[in-house]
Amino acid sequence: MKKATVTVISLGGTISCTPATAGDGVVPTLGAADLVLSLEGTAPEVDIQPLTWSTRDSSEITFAELVDLAAEVRKQFEAGAQGVVLTQGTDTIDESAFALDLLLGLEHPIVITGALHNPSQSKSDGPANLQAALQVAVSPELREVGTVVVMNDEIHAAQWVRKSHTSNSAAFQSPGVGPIGWIAESRPVFAVKPFHARKAPIDGATGAGNVALITAVMDDTPMIVDSILSLGYKGLVVDGMGGGHVSGGFSEALARAAQSIPVVFASRTGSGSVLQSTYSSPGAEVDLINHGLIPAGSLPGLKARILLTLLIRNGATDTEIADTFAAYGRYLSRPAHHLNPESNYA
Ligand code: GLU
Repeated sequence: MKKATVTVISLGGTISCTPATAGDGVVPTLGAADLVLSLEGTAPEVDIQPLTWSTRDSSEITFAELVDLAAEVRKQFEAGAQGVVLTQGTDTIDESAFALDLLLGLEHPIVITGALHNPSQSKSDGPANLQAALQVAVSPELREVGTVVVMNDEIHAAQWVRKSHTSNSAAFQSPGVGPIGWIAESRPVFAVKPFHARKAPIDGATGAGNVALITAVMDDTPMIVDSILSLGYKGLVVDGMGGGHVSGGFSEALARAAQSIPVVFASRTGSGSVLQSTYSSPGAEVDLINHGLIPAGSLPGLKARILLTLLIRNGATDTEIADTFAAYGRYLSRPAHHLNPESNYA
């Protein structure tokens, strides 16, 4: 039987790290071919094509780079790859995974992985994570769930996954939802299908525009909100308290900002949906919505910033932005046996 071809694209991070020549610590140096070598024949069922994209820390990844990367992924699929695995630093996987999910859609989903422990450590988790990612990358279910993150034998949907620990191999969680599947006996098991609020991938996103993300905290000054506009940001996401709340003073500053740029409010709690019609004090959700702010629905601030940035860079209108976020306000995952692409979308 012909082997499935999987392209492994490497971007650096701990999985690619080796000891620095001077001083302590490690730096990313290994490319995709090196990572594939580390598998030592443990993935005989796939033909792996290595492609080194970069060898950097994941803090250096940019939106422009992710747009180019998405184009490369599409090229790999069009050239015959059955799957694409991306390795990168774990610090920003929760951001890049959602961006790539939005850019690639269900047509070209990829599997992203990395490591918490570098190859020079005895508990190095890179090879096992890469092996699991390859197994998921060739599974037909991937086109029904979109881009996923595979770490520690768990499969997480791009829109929910969060790095939730600084150093543990089990650092990745999907708060409030859980993983959508796992690896059992070297095979992926998909348990639930994530909701995709967008019908189609965000095509392009080649324009400019940065979106600020700020967290509302007790007894803060709203000066920070006014400064966002003067700094030239094209959008703002506020991680509000609880159900998506800020102080009255903050609300007035956010209302001023919302007259010039899209302002989205999310919840700093990290799971659940922001409220829309429960509280109406100054700074509560009813007040914010009346001031023209957009509820992030179920997207936490980190993910809402990714979506808003890509929409702005794609030239979306205010209505398109509001409609897209509205679609994230009504969902939850459904059991896998209800898989039906037609009914999955808003
Ligand atoms: N500097 C790393 C990064 O690129 C650290 C985290 C990791 O890869 O686990 O994100």
